Amino acid sequence: MVKVNENFLKLPGSYLFSEVARRIRVYNESHPGADIIKLSIGDVTRPLVPAVIQAMHKAVDEMGTAEGFHGYGPEQGYEFLREAIARGDYAARGVDIQPGEIFVSDGAKSDCGNIGDIFGVDNIVAVCDPVYPVYVDTNAMAGRAGEYQEELGKWNRLIYMPCVEENGFSPEPPKEIPDIIYLCSPNNPTGAVLTKDQLKVWVDYANAHGAVILYDSAYECFITSDNVPHTIFEVEGARTCAIEFRSFSKTAGFTGNRCAYTVVPMELERGGAKLNSLWNRRQCTKFNGVPYVVQRGAAAVYTPEGRAQIMANIDYYRANARVIREGLTAAGLTCFGGTDAPYIWLKTPNGVGSWDFFDQVLDRANVATTPGAGFGPSGEGYVRLTAFGDADATKTAVERVCNMFK
Ligand code: PLP
Repeated sequence: MVKVNENFLKLPGSYLFSEVARRIRVYNESHPGADIIKLSIGDVTRPLVPAVIQAMHKAVDEMGTAEGFHGYGPEQGYEFLREAIARGDYAARGVDIQPGEIFVSDGAKSDCGNIGDIFGVDNIVAVCDPVYPVYVDTNAMAGRAGEYQEELGKWNRLIYMPCVEENGFSPEPPKEIPDIIYLCSPNNPTGAVLTKDQLKVWVDYANAHGAVILYDSAYECFITSDNVPHTIFEVEGARTCAIEFRSFSKTAGFTGNRCAYTVVPMELERGGAKLNSLWNRRQCTKFNGVPYVVQRGAAAVYTPEGRAQIMANIDYYRANARVIREGLTAAGLTCFGGTDAPYIWLKTPNGVGSWDFFDQVLDRANVATTPGAGFGPSGEGYVRLTAFGDADATKTAVERVCNMFK
């Protein structure tokens, strides 16, 4: 009789987004025609830019010719894209990352989840609280998280690093020393960022203890502050302790196109093995590459026109973030994030619970938010708002929420 992976049976239901959708549905049923604006969704809404579309059209035409046809591509990504990334995202910032250290993939979500394949099951893992749930659930599936404690909303083998108002939503190195440390900057959900000095503390800590930092920088394109590094490899010492995840999803509107990449430096060794070789082996065995057409589209992001066009879209979302942050702050609410990130972390007034506040805002303003408690126990008392919506709808949503507090 086959045995299933029992770790899957320990997972709590994927409560957050299904519960948000259920509550919106129930509200709609009792208030038909209600014009609900969703500031809850983490997906982009602006269309792909012309440079990307042109490059993809050209690639589709190539695929229809005998000379230009591409079958299986390199598992690590085409050289043209790896080189464009090395130049555009790293050399341009004075950071030396070689194409051989870059692995193109179909998403940072897959990479953040799959990276666990190269690490033993006994490793101790540290995550931020609140957290992007993928880090937690994929470790739970692999048997690295222990048992789920319903009453605490935590797994007993994971180290949770609270990111709260008192520490500026910035994780602090825990007393019990982890082997694997997930950091996410700009952060989903809090919108907080790690400065170069803060990141240096983590890099030194990881090098001192032989830990590995898994650095998720999927929202890098939203960074505006000078003291915030765009890549962990701007920090001295990171090449011996860090793996970085980046994505075209939010940078270039590729959520439906699927393209991302992971950087594993050659110097990063643990247990006598180069992690670059292990990840290469993993990808070659379990992954057959990103479509040629999609990689051509991604490479177009590094042309001068492509760059200007994607920056215009990012500016559009940044303007939304400003509207949300400034509007709600003027109404007397307390907001965090939204300057170097597309997420605004709104403190619920008078200590109202996340879900109660979600219900109030849905009912009185017809605006959907994402309850912070769904991202971890330290998210209680907050909701996450996103800047990825339509500009007019975002303005209307903010006006409606402000009216609740007049
Ligand atoms: N990492 C973080 C922190 C995210 O919030 C998301 C998407 O919401 C991802 C990764 C996923 O990126 P991708 O679309 O490349 O899979």
